[in-house]
Amino acid sequence: MTNIGDGRPLRVCDLCGIVDDHPRHSIVGAVPGQELVAAPTDQVIERVTASAPTSERARLLRELLDTSTSDRHLDCCREQGCPLPADDPNNCGNRTRGAESKRGGQLLAYLTGGA
Ligand SMILES: [Zn+2]
Ligand SMILES: [Zn+2]
Repeated sequence: MTNIGDGRPLRVCDLCGIVDDHPRHSIVGAVPGQELVAAPTDQVIERVTASAPTSERARLLRELLDTSTSDRHLDCCREQGCPLPADDPNNCGNRTRGAESKRGGQLLAYLTGGA
């Protein structure tokens, strides 16, 4: 995947383990109906460890293992089932409606009204 660049920080995706700077749904604090976000799977931890740049690996793993927050690609969150109510405009299904196949810079442009 190609990073968007422009000074955007690298982030993990708690669901697929891919490290990039694409748009995320960042969930902070308790998800309604859930005490904490689910801990990442072994596969996700290994994927982040393998793909994170050495200089950022510790920070990214710390973020990944912090179960009070969850960062997810919008498409990963949509497919897993976004925790926000279906009628919430920030629900990933709503945010990506009509842009289901867009990723990275194209998705960012869509979200910010550029394309
Ligand atoms: Zn993902
Ligand atoms: Zn979401």
